[in-house]
Amino acid sequence: MFSVDEIRKDFAILSQKVYGKPLVYFDNAATTQKPNIVLAKIQTAYTTQNGNIHRGVHFLSQKATEEHEAARSVVAQYINASKSSEVIFTRGTTEAINLVATSFGERFCSAGDEIVLSTMEHHSNIVPWQLLAERKSLKLKVIKLTSCGEIDLEHYESLLSERTKIVAVAHVSNVLGTINPIKQMVQIAHQKGIKVLIDGAQAIPHLAVDVQSLDADFYAFSGHKIYAPTGIGVLYGKEDLLNALPPYQGGGEMIDRVSFSGTTYNELPYKFEAGTPDYVGSTALATALGYLTNLGLENVRRHEQTLLAYATERLKEIRGMKIIGTSECKSGVISFLVGDIHPYDVGMLLDKLGIAVRTGHHCAQPLMDSLGIVGTVRVSFAVYNTTAEIDVFIDALKRVVEMLS
Ligand code: PMP
Repeated sequence: MFSVDEIRKDFAILSQKVYGKPLVYFDNAATTQKPNIVLAKIQTAYTTQNGNIHRGVHFLSQKATEEHEAARSVVAQYINASKSSEVIFTRGTTEAINLVATSFGERFCSAGDEIVLSTMEHHSNIVPWQLLAERKSLKLKVIKLTSCGEIDLEHYESLLSERTKIVAVAHVSNVLGTINPIKQMVQIAHQKGIKVLIDGAQAIPHLAVDVQSLDADFYAFSGHKIYAPTGIGVLYGKEDLLNALPPYQGGGEMIDRVSFSGTTYNELPYKFEAGTPDYVGSTALATALGYLTNLGLENVRRHEQTLLAYATERLKEIRGMKIIGTSECKSGVISFLVGDIHPYDVGMLLDKLGIAVRTGHHCAQPLMDSLGIVGTVRVSFAVYNTTAEIDVFIDALKRVVEMLS
């Protein structure tokens, strides 16, 4: 049985008070809280099986290696990768995208080539491409959005040319909540022989992701947004593509044989995992994925959709409310503005009432520029949030708006 009350017991942090008020945590798009089972896994890993992985002949090293590789298989299964060697552990989404921008750019892009991004991208899916574009004299092309905050598919298609090498686009917007028609976008790009990187940071905690069904060339996400610790993330890549790319960073583990006359590189996935990886983080990520699987992704999605619909409806009670991002197809993220009140003031006062929201540009300044605003207030839901918390939030917001009006 799916019971939010039971789920909340798994997250010790949620029962604390902030400024004497029960914590209402609505900043899940920034990072999620961690269930006890994940925290226990970290404790167990460090107290019973900590040894640097690979190469070790001793018990602890072998145990830690087994756990790390088992975690890779869990991730592969979770996203339906055809092989676990297509799963590269990274520090997070940002590092995964930088890896692709650097290595793919090095191998496949030359002066005059084009990269297509969308207006709603997070800085993590813009700046790595800008750095590449500067290095290699490439051109970035940007897909426009419709007035409700969806990708303009006609414009998207019109941007793809014979010079386009890769499309890099978010699966779900961290500001608008829009779930992009990513499968269709991949199909359109593939018809023209163009590769696609999907930034899955905001999709992976909420949607069932099947990289084979999406036919994604690359798919990136962060552990900390899916109930796992910070410092671990994933880059999925198709085997033939990953094999074609040069290494991203040099160091231990990514090599086959090193000599001063020349070095050869390890096979996948190790070629892209230079240095000691976060082998405790990887096992904790696998535990988090197992936790979600046990809850049932469909149950999670249904619950979060209920929260989204309820909060969207209740927000309309507030005079001057403007919701930014009104697609029919959204995940549990709501950005809004009230009249001409500065989002920062709203966030500061809500905080004093125990409610954690995020304010500002949400690392999407080009999106803010396109909307002609400096920022928004954003609430974002996770599996442990409740409609009762939304009631508390709406009451608090009404008070805050009254104070600031
Ligand atoms: N892309 C999107 C859509 C995001 O929401 C985020 C995190 N806010 C990132 C990329 C970057 O993730 P991380 O900081 O974990 O690397």
